[in-house]
Amino acid sequence: VPLRTAFRNYATSVAKFNGVKNANGKYTVTLIEGDGIGIEISEAVKQIYSAANVPVDWEPVDVTPILVNGKTTIPQAAIESVNKNLVALKGPLATPVGKGHVSLNLTLRRTFNLFANVRPCKSIVGYETPYENVNTVLIRENTEGEYSGIEHTIVPGVVQSIKLITRKASERVIRYAFEYARSINKPHILVVHKASIMKLSDGLFVKVAEDLAKEYPDVKVSFEILDNTSLKLCTDPSDYKDLVMVMPNLYGDIMSDLSSGLIGGLGLTPSGNMGDNVSIFEAVHGSAPDIAGKGLANPTALLLSSCMMLRHMSLNEYADKIEGAVLKTIASGPENRTKDLKGSASTSHFTEQVISHL
Ligand code: NAD
Repeated sequence: VPLRTAFRNYATSVAKFNGVKNANGKYTVTLIEGDGIGIEISEAVKQIYSAANVPVDWEPVDVTPILVNGKTTIPQAAIESVNKNLVALKGPLATPVGKGHVSLNLTLRRTFNLFANVRPCKSIVGYETPYENVNTVLIRENTEGEYSGIEHTIVPGVVQSIKLITRKASERVIRYAFEYARSINKPHILVVHKASIMKLSDGLFVKVAEDLAKEYPDVKVSFEILDNTSLKLCTDPSDYKDLVMVMPNLYGDIMSDLSSGLIGGLGLTPSGNMGDNVSIFEAVHGSAPDIAGKGLANPTALLLSSCMMLRHMSLNEYADKIEGAVLKTIASGPENRTKDLKGSASTSHFTEQVISHL
């Protein structure tokens, strides 16, 4: 199984090259700017990449949903761009709440079969939080569970949402976690579940991990109930620094936001959506409609996601440079940090500072 991602300080030796070189000798990367603050933070990334001379040409695509045969999908041009370039960077996409709206994020994950969502979370040196040395990696199953989208009304006032767990999807994400744990030299995976209550569904997830463990005798496997992990993670996150967590979809969604809170919020945490062929890197946060268009957005999470992307493409030198400049900027004081990090900098001031530290 080729291993396809890495993050700051993580071993990259197993990351095989991914990306497609164009006629300019650069790599074309699909860019989905996203909604709300997506526009502002994508602009920051573009400016910083240009200043750092990263050999990447952006190919912006429109993912405004379209109806094909009564089903919502993304435009063919966007699908073709991602399939051609193999790598995409994506800003947040807003999902309207309520009936009849298919999440575009889910559509993207399903369209490209992005089965593993990798979410590293590290304390930022120079930005004080109640916790120090947080260094967790969470891998979230990205295609099924409670997010399968199978919901119906049985009788008025009674609805049913199906939690779908399959051996196939569980196996590929847990296998990915084993491989990832090996690659970053943390040969220990922690399977987080609720099989005490969800005996069949989470029970299957746990069983698959037990079965796969036989193929990875060098990797330790532990199991923990979700409530216990929640309590322990926010009591002492250092218990989780030498392992890789893997869990079903909904738990991963919630626990990764909890992990973000430990290091200073959603503005700081990157992620990669990994598939067999295509990978889409994105910030964990949403479109932040409360601050959109006000110049307050923190582009760090998208920038760090883009650094994961660069390492995935074996452009480590550029990833190190950009990541270093981002961290130096955050550490340089509140006047250079955005409001979510108790600072006073606008998105554009922050961007200028990152460029000055390249
Ligand atoms: P959100 O992540 O957009 O915002 C939560 C809070 O964090 C807000 O107060 C916001 O201002 C703040 N915040 C988030 N990112 C920030 C940043 N970079 N800089 C500064 N502050 C930041 O969550 P939400 O409000 O629940 O969701 C808004 C929309 O985003 C919804 O439509 C939701 O469906 C969508 N969403 C998309 C994704 C995605 O595209 N992957 C992920 C989560 C939510």
